[in-house]
Amino acid sequence: MKILHVSAECYPAAKVGGLADVVGAIPKYQSGSNRISEVIMPKYGTAWFHKQSFEAIYKGHFWYPGETISFSIQLLTSEDLGFNLYVVDIPGKFDRQGVYADGNGFFHDDSERWLSFQRAVLIWVFTLEETIDIIHVHDHHTGMIPFMLKQSFDFQSSHQIKTVFTIHNLAYQGAFGWDKQYLLAAFDNWKSGLLDWDQQINPIAAAIRCADAVTTVSPSYLEELKVSSYGLEWLFESEDHKCFGILNGIDYDVWNPETDQYLNHHSSGDMGTFKQKNKIDLCKNYGIDPEYCTISFIGRMVEQKGADLLAYAMHAILAERHDINFIILGTGDPYLMDQFKLLDKKYPEQTGITLAYNEKLAHQIYAASDFLIMPSRHEPCGLNQMYSMRYGTSPIVNNTGGLIDSVIHYTERNGTGIKINFLNVESIIKSIVDAIQLYGKKQKFKTTVKNCVDSNFSWESSSQKYIDIYESLIN
Ligand code: ADP
Repeated sequence: MKILHVSAECYPAAKVGGLADVVGAIPKYQSGSNRISEVIMPKYGTAWFHKQSFEAIYKGHFWYPGETISFSIQLLTSEDLGFNLYVVDIPGKFDRQGVYADGNGFFHDDSERWLSFQRAVLIWVFTLEETIDIIHVHDHHTGMIPFMLKQSFDFQSSHQIKTVFTIHNLAYQGAFGWDKQYLLAAFDNWKSGLLDWDQQINPIAAAIRCADAVTTVSPSYLEELKVSSYGLEWLFESEDHKCFGILNGIDYDVWNPETDQYLNHHSSGDMGTFKQKNKIDLCKNYGIDPEYCTISFIGRMVEQKGADLLAYAMHAILAERHDINFIILGTGDPYLMDQFKLLDKKYPEQTGITLAYNEKLAHQIYAASDFLIMPSRHEPCGLNQMYSMRYGTSPIVNNTGGLIDSVIHYTERNGTGIKINFLNVESIIKSIVDAIQLYGKKQKFKTTVKNCVDSNFSWESSSQKYIDIYESLIN
């Protein structure tokens, strides 16, 4: 069986969030004696791509009105990733300093970019001698592929290829106006209904309708989408027969406390020493006291992640208590970043705030913290809580999406973290006070940390669930 993942992100080539982690890990776990799993993504103009060498394997072109889009498909020559990585080089569209944005903000030609990428992928796939069995597309950037594969005149005859669409985050839908229909490879106009949602072309709606199977990144997220999904609820109901919720795993090779390339202190089985050494180092860097309970936040600073609520809660807690530290790593909404700058200025001895994207620091924070807080308003899966548990850090989470499926409240059997019901500033403050108390009860805290470390979030079982879906489609 040959599987091709099509994605905007793939770790370590280009990462903005969890999508990259998933696509960079899953092919390693899917490849086996009778299976090959590979990835294709755009070739960005970012540093990682400049450092690699690629072999051009295909050159092609197609037309937008008044514009010839020339592209080449290139294969990464290094085998270090553990799977074949193909990139699509489209001059003018992706050779920029970012995936979705650069120093000047978000790009404004998204539809042109993602459609050119998807068309190039399909043109190339169509020329391959060895057929692909499954094209697995991820999020809205690749959501038009199932439609074009089945309905566009150019590709219809490759309809024996089955498609799987995974929704990592439905909040981003990539919809665009019908005036841009020309971006798609030509199709019979009476098929337009498959694309339309609210009088726009909606890649998510199109993919839910046209893919042979649809998955969400956790079972609870799928249930939530049936109840609330920005108007798409009935689509999930009507396509329920082909929708599956599969909890993401994490890459145990990359996220390994014994070998993590970003850590100065590794675990040799003794979690207590591992945590202590990493915590002392990191607290020293930030000038905060490692004796106190340390709660961290890592993530995009956007409303979805509840960063605004966290800032309010921190103001309230820090005004009253001196036995707590906060470490914050994130970037995003300038207004939210200002809130954290303010906290840093007001409480320099209890806060370590880094407003940037920093992969190395993220690993160090997971290793050094006592708790990791995720007050997300919604969270399709969330990977941070899994990384933190793997590194002996107990998660404090809102009871939503994948956080429901991956964290057990500390008062329950095999409890791993603190779950917040009814998210608001007060409940976040309460969860932080509970965390400080739990930290003070040494034996109970040690058991909670052990339960975290003993949890299994490896890709083994989740990737098998995808394989079961692929096999059922092929057969
Ligand atoms: P999302 O994809 O919604 O951003 P996930 O929890 O699925 O959220 O994945 C987030 C990933 O991005 C994790 O690997 C996390 O460590 C990483 N990450 C988020 N923000 C930063 C940052 N500022 N610096 C380094 N890593 C970050």
